[in-house]
Amino acid sequence: MLRGRHALVTGGGSGIGAAIARALAGAGAEVTITGRRAAPLEAMAANGPRLWPAVMDVTDPEAVDGAVKAAVAARGPIDICVANAGIAEGRSIFRTDLEFWRKIHATNLDGAFLTIRAALATMKGRDWGRVIAIASIAGLRGLRGAPAYTASKHGLVGLVRGLSEDFIGSGITFNAICPGYVETPIIDRNVNAIAERTGMSPDEALAVMVGANRHGRLIQPDEVAAAVLWLCGPGSASVNGQAIEIAGGQA
Ligand code: NAP
Repeated sequence: MLRGRHALVTGGGSGIGAAIARALAGAGAEVTITGRRAAPLEAMAANGPRLWPAVMDVTDPEAVDGAVKAAVAARGPIDICVANAGIAEGRSIFRTDLEFWRKIHATNLDGAFLTIRAALATMKGRDWGRVIAIASIAGLRGLRGAPAYTASKHGLVGLVRGLSEDFIGSGITFNAICPGYVETPIIDRNVNAIAERTGMSPDEALAVMVGANRHGRLIQPDEVAAAVLWLCGPGSASVNGQAIEIAGGQA
């Protein structure tokens, strides 16, 4: 289905990004996977065909432009851009100093902006392209105890919606995927953080997250990847500027 397409997946070495990268490569795309750590990217590439690792910190404009340039030189213009890299950490407003606020936005919003801008420059003038941002249910409604994360993901949904208007009719579509709680390393880190902060046991903290998904279970990374594959497949060209919830129900 995607043979001859070049996909870029940021944060492609773990969790949701890894599932998306494997799904796109499985459908025939050549997939550039990026992250700050080389080891998980190289391990992925060693275990599957059509996965190409590149170390790239999305908060560093030169690193983003350089890595995208190198990937394009090797595998051609980007057809599919998945801005997935992100960090999740909850802090109340009074524990949110400017440094923390900027750290969350530097990755979740500035990083996606830099990634999408670099990828779009290579898509310009072509008649097909897919830009997909992995936002969150926190891109659509407030997530208790996480105002900075919520603001960054609302911003990401706004970026996608804005671009969908600017490029309307071009053949390039822009959509955000908004998952509930997905079973990835972020969940493990958050379980520990919540347990430490609240005095809950790790099992109790996990139960809070599971309970927040409307169907009462954690979502699997492959379920998010399936939505990305659908957006890249035939028949989805009219889906544009949308924020698609994958949360087991209405978030
Ligand atoms: P994860 O395994 O921790 O994935 C995050 C990825 O982003 C990692 O591969 C990480 O790689 C990369 N990353 C982080 N900061 C980066 C930076 N500055 N530059 C480049 N890459 C960076 O967790 P995940 O759950 O799969 O998260 C993926 C996305 O899904 C995030 O945007 C997250 O907000 C979103 N999301 C997750 C959930 C959930 O419940 N798991 C729910 C809704 C939305 P390096 O550490 O090697 O850089």
